[in-house]
Amino acid sequence: AKEQGRNCFCFYTADMNARALALLDLERAVRRALERGEFVLHYQAKVDLRNGLVCGAEALIRWRRENGTLESPANFIPLAEKSGLIVSLGAWVIDEACRQLRSWRDAGWGDLCLAVNVSARQFFAGDFHGVVSDALHRHGIPAQCLELEVTESMLMEDPERTIAILHRLKQIGVKLSLDDFGTGYSGFAYLSRFPIDTLKIDQSFVRNIVVEPEAAMIAVSIIDLAHRMRLSVVAEGVETEAQLGYLKSKDCDQMQGYFFAKPLPADQFLGLLQDGKCL
Ligand code: C2E
Ligand code: CA
Ligand code: CA
Ligand code: CA
Repeated sequence: AKEQGRNCFCFYTADMNARALALLDLERAVRRALERGEFVLHYQAKVDLRNGLVCGAEALIRWRRENGTLESPANFIPLAEKSGLIVSLGAWVIDEACRQLRSWRDAGWGDLCLAVNVSARQFFAGDFHGVVSDALHRHGIPAQCLELEVTESMLMEDPERTIAILHRLKQIGVKLSLDDFGTGYSGFAYLSRFPIDTLKIDQSFVRNIVVEPEAAMIAVSIIDLAHRMRLSVVAEGVETEAQLGYLKSKDCDQMQGYFFAKPLPADQFLGLLQDGKCL
């Protein structure tokens, strides 16, 4: 039994070594991909329910590997967060989003608002404020056209420091939204102290909204809470007409999901804009 135990231990460490090495490999590959320009942003439409028009988009990163495959963020963002690479990767995302926004504005789409996702590590890194304001200046983008999506859970790591950073970002004039809202409840006290503009109802509630009374109840409460706090509210992951109808009847402001459009490469997103209504 003792012998077997030792063997198990050996296999275990060998396995751990293999995994650690694989992680190092991936980290090196991600760093190289950033240098080589292998990352791209796709854009998912946000639809304004008052008029059915596309009012903006969320930028979602993809990694176009040498062999042509498109890697989803789930396969490299967590690693980039752990290794700290997310600070430079995230700065690239913000710059690229502003560059793209510039080109859409030049093409006559001056009202578009573009949202980018922000990781905790990136948010709390030294000069996040500078990264944001530099990108806006470099591409001549009015601050209110850029929205930063942060999550509730990341803000709760250090609420006091978070509030200070959020206020500095608000001074630039960018929009701030709370992503995946409802999944990491932070309490009213903090929520009212975060200078945010928008709540995004998490997909997990939207998915079950017409089949599960609890999910519906949570979504409706979030819409009500947002409006009482004079915030706008976005539902994400809307896939069916029934979900759309329900959310519309509850006065949700904006929606995002496969029902309207998947995340698209920049040129296809422009095509969607040119086609006009999404609803
Ligand atoms: P998220 O910010 O919650 O983004 C929403 C995710 O849901 C996206 O997945 C989007 O493609 C997907 N989605 C949109 N509509 C629907 C729908 O109707 N049904 C379903 N089932 N899914 C839908 P994606 O693009 O794979 O991104 C996953 C996560 O990766 C994002 O979740 C975000 O947390 C992270 N991420 C993506 N891009 C970036 C980035 O540039 N920086 C950082 N830090 N994180 C990013
Ligand atoms: Ca998001
Ligand atoms: Ca989300
Ligand atoms: Ca999410």
